[in-house]
Amino acid sequence: MSNPTFRTRISQLRKKKITKKKIVRRGNPLNRRNNDDDCEAPLVAGRSALALFGLVGEGAAAAGGAGPSSAPAASSSTHPHHPPYHLRRKSPTHPVSPPTSLGAGAAAASVVATPPTAASAGVSAATAGLPSPATTPVLSPTAAITAATTYSPSMLPARKRPRRTYSTGDSSTGLGCNTSAAPHYLLHELPDEVLITILSYLYERDLCRVAQVCKRFYTLANDNELWKNLYQGLYEYDLPLFNSSPCKFDFVQPEDCDYDNPWKESFKQLYHGVHVRQGYQKHASKITGRSVTYFETIQVAYDYACDYAECPLVLIHSGVYCGEVIVIETNIAFIGAAPGNVAENVILDRESESTVMFMEGAQRAYLGYVTIKFSPPSCTDTMQHHKSYALDIQENCSPTIEHCIIRSCSHYDDCEAPLVAGRSALALFGLVGEGAAAAGGAGPSSAPAASSSTHPHHPPYHLRRNNHTRSITYCCHHRCTHIQPSMLPARKRPRRTYSTGDSSTGLGCNTSAAPHYLLHELPDEVLITILSYLYERDLCRVAQVCKRFYTLANDNELWKNLYQGLYEYDLPLFNSSPCKFDFVQPEDCDYDNPWKESFKQLYHGVHVRQGYQKHASKITGRSVTYFETIQVAYDYACDYAECPLVLIHSGVYCGEVIVIETNIAFIGAAPGNVAENVILDRESESTVMFMEGAQRAYLGYVTIKFSPPSCTDTMQHHKSYALDIQENCSPTIEHCIIRSCSHLGAAVSVSGPGAEPVIRHCEISDCENVGLIVTDRAQGHYEDNEISRNALAGIWVKNFANPIMRRNHIHHGKDVGIFCFDGGLGYFEANDIHNNRIAGFEVKAQANPTVVRCEIHHGQTGGIYVHEQGMGQFIENKIHSNKYAGVWITSNSNPTIRKNEIYNGLQGGVYIFGDGRGLIEHNNIYGNALAGIQIRTNSDPIVRHNKIHDGQHGGIYVHEKGQGLIECNEVYANTLAGVWITTGSSPTLRRNQIHSGKQVGVYFYDNGHGLLEDNNIFSHLYSGVQIRTGSNPIIRRNKIWGGQNGGVLVYNGGLGVLEQNEIFDNAMAGVWIKTDSNPILRRNKIFDGREAGICIFNGGRGVLEENEIFRNAQAGVLISTQSHPTQSHPSLRRNRIYDGLAAGIEITNNATGTLEYNQIFNNRFGGLCLASGVNPIQRGNKIFDNHDAVEKAVSSGQCLYKISSYTSFPMHDFYRCRTCNTTERNAICVNCIKTCHNGHVVEFIRHDRFFCDCGAGTLNNQCQLQGEPTQDTDTLYDSAAPIESQSLMAEV
Ligand SMILES: [Zn+2]
Ligand SMILES: [Zn+2]
Ligand SMILES: [Zn+2]
Repeated sequence: MSNPTFRTRISQLRKKKITKKKIVRRGNPLNRRNNDDDCEAPLVAGRSALALFGLVGEGAAAAGGAGPSSAPAASSSTHPHHPPYHLRRKSPTHPVSPPTSLGAGAAAASVVATPPTAASAGVSAATAGLPSPATTPVLSPTAAITAATTYSPSMLPARKRPRRTYSTGDSSTGLGCNTSAAPHYLLHELPDEVLITILSYLYERDLCRVAQVCKRFYTLANDNELWKNLYQGLYEYDLPLFNSSPCKFDFVQPEDCDYDNPWKESFKQLYHGVHVRQGYQKHASKITGRSVTYFETIQVAYDYACDYAECPLVLIHSGVYCGEVIVIETNIAFIGAAPGNVAENVILDRESESTVMFMEGAQRAYLGYVTIKFSPPSCTDTMQHHKSYALDIQENCSPTIEHCIIRSCSHYDDCEAPLVAGRSALALFGLVGEGAAAAGGAGPSSAPAASSSTHPHHPPYHLRRNNHTRSITYCCHHRCTHIQPSMLPARKRPRRTYSTGDSSTGLGCNTSAAPHYLLHELPDEVLITILSYLYERDLCRVAQVCKRFYTLANDNELWKNLYQGLYEYDLPLFNSSPCKFDFVQPEDCDYDNPWKESFKQLYHGVHVRQGYQKHASKITGRSVTYFETIQVAYDYACDYAECPLVLIHSGVYCGEVIVIETNIAFIGAAPGNVAENVILDRESESTVMFMEGAQRAYLGYVTIKFSPPSCTDTMQHHKSYALDIQENCSPTIEHCIIRSCSHLGAAVSVSGPGAEPVIRHCEISDCENVGLIVTDRAQGHYEDNEISRNALAGIWVKNFANPIMRRNHIHHGKDVGIFCFDGGLGYFEANDIHNNRIAGFEVKAQANPTVVRCEIHHGQTGGIYVHEQGMGQFIENKIHSNKYAGVWITSNSNPTIRKNEIYNGLQGGVYIFGDGRGLIEHNNIYGNALAGIQIRTNSDPIVRHNKIHDGQHGGIYVHEKGQGLIECNEVYANTLAGVWITTGSSPTLRRNQIHSGKQVGVYFYDNGHGLLEDNNIFSHLYSGVQIRTGSNPIIRRNKIWGGQNGGVLVYNGGLGVLEQNEIFDNAMAGVWIKTDSNPILRRNKIFDGREAGICIFNGGRGVLEENEIFRNAQAGVLISTQSHPTQSHPSLRRNRIYDGLAAGIEITNNATGTLEYNQIFNNRFGGLCLASGVNPIQRGNKIFDNHDAVEKAVSSGQCLYKISSYTSFPMHDFYRCRTCNTTERNAICVNCIKTCHNGHVVEFIRHDRFFCDCGAGTLNNQCQLQGEPTQDTDTLYDSAAPIESQSLMAEV
């Protein structure tokens, strides 16, 4: 309660010395207060006021504890000289000098501070205008901690602009803005009144240091009033209390004392005491300039005092101390400490066992000025209190008890108040019982009344100090109504006239010079300091005095302090339009004084601030209404305000019924992270409910919690939520933190037609249920919310709800991110959905959302899951890095998936199964671990214009009776087949570009069917198309080219109809037909192959009709059986085979064929070449104009190898040489037999395809016809079998 006394002090000072005469007479507009206004309210100067600001942490302590007084612990070591007029402000970054004991000889230099900096001004002034924390410990511990960490002085915004240089127009001396003149002022020319004012913000230790500066300061720092204020601030007594000897504490009227300064003396005598004061403990250590220990309870104080104090003294401040165990067994002194009637304000109460008990050891104990009550709850319960008393003094002790009020309501015989029992129980009672109470329980407070009400005029520079009354809030119902200002002692002696010995001007004691100083010569800094004790209304009035005052009174820092004092925000908050409240950095504002502007915009609001209500009306210069609860504020604001605005200050508001049915704005008000400090909590029924009528309601910057006590109690919370928005209302909720620990329902429910809220920048996290439910045709806008770590889905949208959701961050849920079902709609744009345990976005049961430009990634299952007739448009999303497929479509669902990026999935890209459908269009699908698109189990999607590439598996995988229309896609660079079609599937693939795969282009196997039409299939490492095991596709008008292996490979019983395809420029045969395959090839063009046109091997059959086979490097058609049990036996009809670089048709190795009406012409090695024993059915073939190049070469005596090299097997006679012991695997041409093996035993083997081993140099003897081969010999034709695809792992 120090602050009011300061105010009193200043106020009195002003009245007496300066004001009355001049300024009052001039009718200064500031001069409008009455005494009552001055009372109590401002509590501004507050040393510990800063606790409210969250400056309670270490940083705050370092900064100086509090307002002006705390300010500057001063960097004493670096600034030996200090401009004396620098009021106690210090830079928060300067270290605080360690406190020294009271009166210790600290260097004078340590008293003063460095010049005020912007930051320090911010810190200290921030406390101005706030009620003292003593009366309002509103911060919850957590809030305090948060505030401390988020609001450390070093984080405060530094002043951005240089200080203004004010006009000195009014100054006769021109010193007004000359800061270098300031030290001179402070030491020599500043009037005593101003100096005293400055000193009034110091605590006792600093005051003692100041006294060492110079004679003048010594005199001023020993001022009686200063010490009275300090004394009353700390001890609260109205009169000095002297502890002249042990167990003797007496109040004495100051004028009856022998001491020059009785207040200081009393202060000193009591200074070793520890204090019990509710709510003070945590702040005590942070007050610079004071070394006082506070405790919450008497018990703890007792223990501490016994342990650490030599003469233990415990001062017990106002309050009701219930149930404390006070058993005194040592020589300790307990004394009440309060204003007015001390004993009445300090109440020890107990319901069972004795309230105060003295026992052996308490020989010289003392207890005084308290009320001792014994209040057993039920008076019928007699036995229990049988041996219990209000005051119980047992054997072998001799305490002193005086000035106490003693009451007992126990009915038991023995229990009438005090008991003194046992041998040597010698109590010394002072004034006890009724008599005592009547006689003087009141001790000091019965002192003479002050003449306080006799000053109708007040000088304008009377700082805001109220008179006398100190109200204590701890326990207002016990609070005494009898503490009236009129009962307080008045000053009896005249003020001293101080020596002006040190003053060079002699102005020090010239009171009439003060107004001149104030108006004209006082430096801006000092004036600003003075103004910093005004509230907004007075400040506005001051601004009307003159130009200089106008400038000063609009100072940004002043208003920042006022603003932060009232609203607590770190930054200006602007209410630019209804339902819009934004914090803006001051430097980003257009306003000259953003703090003032923000102040103004919020000024019509009413405040909910626990513990403030009763003081609100007492603050002069401010018109702010405070309430204890939100409900009451709501009712009041609705009734009385045009644009109702309720500011809810830090605190936990439990169990309030907040049902909003009107256009009201609720907004949290706290420093640091606002929402974290303002908590609305409820255990049953919805915490906050918006209903019809709340069309333009607003709720922002609060935490909304729903905390049902037991989670097993399911039914009760079924329809309860943290935030409940019902039909026909459209409130704005933003910057809220929303939590629910209910296992049912959701944290936020938006339900019913016309429910159209705006919810933005909220955090809905860590709830034990769904984060947000939008249902029953509700709509609304949901933007920039953080929805995370909820136990169920992040968002549910159902029952034809149709919300707009943009830029939400939905992640780490334990279920799906967004779940749209039962006809749910919605437009979802640019949401970031990731790391959810199930799908990122799930659509089910006729739901039909639109999802645009979202990022859906790192899901622990799939990205998008559409099922049970789900619909939806998914456009331009990024879907990636999900554990399962990027998109799942199943059970008759039919979504549109367009223009998405679907990539880096840990399984496939798009997975359509179980009768899924869908339009998959213009997507870029790549880098997935399984197929880019997988179509399965009767699904039938349309897949168009996608790019499907660089997968670690196949491109498109159609299996288990999958279907689909697959058109115009580009499928490339996949690790396995570009398109797989298998197990009864029959998709239609048209106009796709399928290329550059690392295996097959299109792979039909295990009864894969379908239509492959008009595709470009090229540049694969394996065949362009493979058909295997029962597959029977139609392959029409494709271009199959540029493969590193064959064009088309049909094998293992493959079928198929290949029509009108162009097959060219493949590294191996244009078409392979192998191992019991039987395709139909019609009207294909097979040309420019780098080997044969068509190879039919190992039981291959097939019908080849009307194909054009030309310009191939090897035989146009080669038919062979090798070791296969079934004879290869194709039918070739009406084909044209021409312009080959080898033979037209070759048939060898016991193969056969039916050749009808073919035309075979202009081939280099001959038209139809048949090995020995081969006898095909021939009918109507035309074989003409072939060149027989082999025959000619042989006829000219050359070795066959010279023509063929390793890569060609022209058909001719071959021999073996018994002399050279060649095997049947070797062949020797007829010319080598004649020349190289002349005279050897030789043998004709057969007419067949071979090259000459003699010429190739593989035999022992040297070939005499050897020559360079005409072609490279790297690849051996027959040993280079086509690469067949294995049936690689199936997906999923
Ligand atoms: Zn040869
Ligand atoms: Zn030989
Ligand atoms: Zn030879």
